[in-house]
Amino acid sequence: ANVADLVAANARERPGATALVDTVAETTLTWAELDAAVDTQARRLLGAGLGRGDRVALRLPTSSAFAVAFFAVTRAGGIAVPLSPQAPEGEWRPVLADSGARLLVGADPGEPDVPVLEPVIDTSAGEPVEATGAGEDVAALFYTSGTTGPPRGVMLSHRALLANVAQLGQLSPPVADPGDRVFVAIPLHHIYGLGPGLLNAVAAGATAVLAQRFDARKALAACADHRVTVIVGVPAMYAELAVLPADEVGEALSTVRLLVSGAAPLHPKVLAAIRGATGLAVFEGYGLTEAAPVVTSTLVTGYAKPGSVGRPLPGVELRLVESDGTPGPVPLDPADPSDAFADDTGGTGLVAVRGRNLFSGYWPDGAHGPDEDGWFRTGDVGYVDVDGDLHLVDRANDLIIVNGFNVFPHEVEDVIGALPEVAEVAVVGVLDERSGEAVKAVVVPKPGVALSEQQVVDACAATLAAYKVPRTVEFAEALPHSSVGKLRRFRLRG
Ligand code: ATP
Repeated sequence: ANVADLVAANARERPGATALVDTVAETTLTWAELDAAVDTQARRLLGAGLGRGDRVALRLPTSSAFAVAFFAVTRAGGIAVPLSPQAPEGEWRPVLADSGARLLVGADPGEPDVPVLEPVIDTSAGEPVEATGAGEDVAALFYTSGTTGPPRGVMLSHRALLANVAQLGQLSPPVADPGDRVFVAIPLHHIYGLGPGLLNAVAAGATAVLAQRFDARKALAACADHRVTVIVGVPAMYAELAVLPADEVGEALSTVRLLVSGAAPLHPKVLAAIRGATGLAVFEGYGLTEAAPVVTSTLVTGYAKPGSVGRPLPGVELRLVESDGTPGPVPLDPADPSDAFADDTGGTGLVAVRGRNLFSGYWPDGAHGPDEDGWFRTGDVGYVDVDGDLHLVDRANDLIIVNGFNVFPHEVEDVIGALPEVAEVAVVGVLDERSGEAVKAVVVPKPGVALSEQQVVDACAATLAAYKVPRTVEFAEALPHSSVGKLRRFRLRG
């Protein structure tokens, strides 16, 4: 099947029901209108010379226009390459070049080197366009946000994208049902917005309510106006809601039945605050672009265990391995999560994943894809507790090695973050002549409070081994985050 067949199926089954609500343009599209608009845009792409497997860059904000363009590219047999509309030239130009895009749909970024097509939403029915491409054909090329290195194009086939929505569809309660109105406040140019947000809603025949930039009060108003029932969000968004008055949040979200979060760690304090305001748990998921993207969710057990990302989705296998791929160590005692660090290697392993949702390797030649047995080793280090729930510890690349001893950033961050004066903290490794690497902490103090370097060091020295205590402490007003709220650690290493 082709990803755009999801739209066609709804146009047959529920033509007059609402497919999309665009909260910025203040427009709605029914399934019949969306399907017709996709056909029109697909015809324009074909008219502009689009051939099978040609890449089409999408430079559009989260909107109905994005959804129409995405399904049009996949229906016409092309490969969609979503670009962040906010990204500076230094970021989008290399992606345009690396993907070899033939066309760009969206706002002209200025001399893009390829023809630019206006995003149109024309719902007048014309000649239907037959879907080209299915199964192993690549439907989209997502460039990872580059929190660890230069962006690489992740090839996602129709098979992988459809597999992940089908896997999500097997959860109970379902992430979306035909009667649901799913609030998507994650950018669609990111796989978290496109997959668990848009495609998941479309696969279920639910209404996707699209919002552009996350502003807590505007989001609450939109959720209330559109009687939203499901929110697909990221931790930064829930953290913003968590500091608003609980009764205001509870009232605006009174129609909501399900809250999900992914892409970055959800703080147990935020989980508790949202539960206090709404009576609802936030179900956390873990995924990565290479898995299209969801791997685990606490929805699998129905228990939002704080600090855990839950269990593999139905149809997804997970195991912990050593970095060379051999099976990893046995799980540690879950009663004490700090035990993950008790021994520098014990209990933790690299998370490896297998399933039909996996990517086809990196663009253009499919390099470094799943191995011959179908397993893909992520860069994430985690452990599985005795209940069978996964806990992520850190990314393997973020591991700091001081005199040969491993330091996981989180164990130091947890100690510093517990200080009442601290709003946010990040710990990274910096090159050091004597010890190879040394621990550096970048601390954002709460507004108006005094905090000294010595206080931070003393707090660490009181609970951590000497080699884990930061050699340097810097203070900052804010930490660098990506568009979905991921910490961009590499920016702090310098
Ligand atoms: P790059 O691969 O270039 O670093 P990126 O990692 O931001 O970019 P994504 O595919 O968006 O690209 O991110 C996937 C990563 O996000 C995972 O490997 C994991 O480290 C992190 N992640 C996802 N969900 C969670 C979660 N619930 N808790 C903690 N980390 C998470």
